[in-house]
Amino acid sequence: MSSAGPRSIDAPPIDAPPVGLAAIERARGALAGRVSATPLVHSPSLTGRLGAPVFLKLDSRQETGSFKLRGATNALLALGDDARRRGVATASTGNHGRALAHAAKALDIRAVVCLSALVPANKVEAVRALGAEVRIVGRSQDDAQVEVDRLVSEEGLTAIPPFDHPDVIAGQGTLGLEVVEELPDLATMLVPLSGGGLAAGVAAAVKGVKPSVRVIGISMARGAAMHASLGAGRPVAVEEVETLADSLGGGIGLANRYTFAMCRALLDDVVLIDEAEIAAGICHAFHAEGEVVEGAGAVGVAAILAGRIAADGPVVALVTGRNIDPERHRAIVAEGGAA
Ligand SMILES: *Cc1c(COP(=O)(O)O)cnc(C)c1O
Repeated sequence: MSSAGPRSIDAPPIDAPPVGLAAIERARGALAGRVSATPLVHSPSLTGRLGAPVFLKLDSRQETGSFKLRGATNALLALGDDARRRGVATASTGNHGRALAHAAKALDIRAVVCLSALVPANKVEAVRALGAEVRIVGRSQDDAQVEVDRLVSEEGLTAIPPFDHPDVIAGQGTLGLEVVEELPDLATMLVPLSGGGLAAGVAAAVKGVKPSVRVIGISMARGAAMHASLGAGRPVAVEEVETLADSLGGGIGLANRYTFAMCRALLDDVVLIDEAEIAAGICHAFHAEGEVVEGAGAVGVAAILAGRIAADGPVVALVTGRNIDPERHRAIVAEGGAA
C-alpha cells in the first residue's frame, strides 16, 4: 500500500497523490529479479519523422507479453500471509489475467480466473497453461465477475483488479522509473491509456523524479472511457466497441477510487487515434522496428506517425504488449508492408 493511503477524488490530488514516488521505488525493490527491466531502444525512423529523439520502451518483451506482470506481481507481494494462503481471483481474460496467473504461480499462490462460457477455448487454455485454476461461469463478463465476488465473500479469496488499486498502480509505475533513470533528459512520455493504472503510476514516477516531463495518454477514438470521464469531470461509462486496441477496451469503473483522480492531476493531455492509425502503428513497429506489437501497445508509435505529438526534447513511447492474434497480425502487416 502507498503510505498516503486511499483518498477520495475530492482530496487535493497534486499535493497528495494516492501513489507517490516512494511507493513506486519500494515496488521496484520488491520486483527486482521477478520482472525484467526491459530495453529502451532508439528509433531512427521515428526520430527522423518527429525531428526530436524518439525511444521505444519495449515492455512488450516482458514475460506474459505485457507490462501487467509488474502491477500483478507487486499486488501479490503486498498481500499478508493469510490472504496469500487463501488465494486470489480475477475475471480478466486479457493481459491482466495472464499476468496474475503467472505471478501467482511464481509465488505459489492459488489464482482463480473466472471466465464466461463465451471466452474462446484457446484463451481458456492459455490461462490454464499459466497455472491458474479456470472457472467457467455464465455467459457474460458480468456473470464471471459475480463469481469473483462470491469467491471473495464466501471463500475469502482476494480480488486483484487490473488497474484501480494502489499496489497495481505502484507496480506499473516502475516502468516509468526505469525510463527516466536511463534517459534523464526525457521531455515527453507517451502512455497507452485505458483504466489508467499504467498512466497514473508512470506519471507519478516520472514527475516524481523530474516534474517538467510531459505525460500524454493515448487512447483509441472508439470507446475511450478515461478520456470521456476526464471531460465529464467524473467517471462515466462509454459504449464498448470493437477496436484493434482491444487491451484498451472497457470502462474505468463508476466507483473509481484512484486512477481517475491521478490521471486528472498528472496527465498533461490525452490524444485519441483512429483504427487506421493504430494499424499503421502495428505495421511500423513490425517493418521498421522489428517488433511484434498488439494494437494497444502501438498507440504511442501511431500517435507520432499521425503527427499528433509536438516535441521539445526526447520522446519515449511505452510499447506495452505483444498479445495479438498471429493471423490478424499477419494480415495487418501484409497490407501495410506494401506501402
Ligand atoms: C492494460 C493495458 C494497457 C492500459 O493499461 P491501463 O492501466 O488499463 O490504462 C495498455 N496496453 C496494454 C498492452 C495493456 O494490456
